[in-house]
Amino acid sequence: MVEQMALQIEDLVKRYPTGTQALKGVDLAISPGQFFGLLGPNGAGKSTLIHCTTGLAAPTSGAIRVFGHDAVSHYEQARLAVGLAPQDLNLDWFLTVEETLDYHGGYFGMPRRERRERARELLEAFSLVEKKDDRTRTLSGGMKRRLILARALMHRPRLLILDEPTAGVDVELRLELWHYVQRINAEGTTILLTTHYLEEAEQLCDAIAFINGGEIVAQGTSGELAERYGVASLEDAYLELVGRKELSRAHLVAEEAV
Ligand code: ADP
Repeated sequence: MVEQMALQIEDLVKRYPTGTQALKGVDLAISPGQFFGLLGPNGAGKSTLIHCTTGLAAPTSGAIRVFGHDAVSHYEQARLAVGLAPQDLNLDWFLTVEETLDYHGGYFGMPRRERRERARELLEAFSLVEKKDDRTRTLSGGMKRRLILARALMHRPRLLILDEPTAGVDVELRLELWHYVQRINAEGTTILLTTHYLEEAEQLCDAIAFINGGEIVAQGTSGELAERYGVASLEDAYLELVGRKELSRAHLVAEEAV
């Protein structure tokens, strides 16, 4: 039997009404349990790919299946299988922490009792129990990020999409968030991560795809990508991808030595 993919994208094309072709025939397959990184410069098509997967944008052509559910023709089942932790802190500032989780569960059709139990479990896991009755606007940055993660997991999605989860956060919070997402993955949730931090991808991801100009241009482990570009690190491979190899730290160190 063929293994069912957590996310299977085939020949995905997205052309916006403006004429921009943001995705030009993307193929991508993420296995259950993988921690998958999608890396690419601004404008590469990462958000468009996420939006097509979560129903926020309609594909022009091609197919997307989440655990076998077609993201267009079986939108509801596909959407239920996905949790999205967006980059922006899009919390409702007037809700409490617990209400935030409860409303999200309600939106995904969870019965009241199950919502209450799941919320309690997540408040515990994300160290938010003491804050459960606080309004979200009063939380620290770290707590807001943790709540966004907890909310994304509320309906027990099998695929979690993390869109630049650590953009602009300090070192301590970044390490703390890594710890949480590694645990989520170890507990069986498949993860698709976009990030601009190559160190983050290197540390967390067991497979990485480079996207550029709406196309997947390379794929593999961090080591395989470096090998593919004939360089020593993921960062250097990325610099080759974006055509800026003169910025390589290895290069700079060599120049300084002259
Ligand atoms: P990334 O997330 O990698 O930065 P995006 O998916 O946001 O890339 O953008 C890919 C391309 O599609 C860019 O050229 C961007 O300007 C364009 N684009 C993104 N969203 C829209 C939109 N709603 N309408 C028109 N063009 C868009």
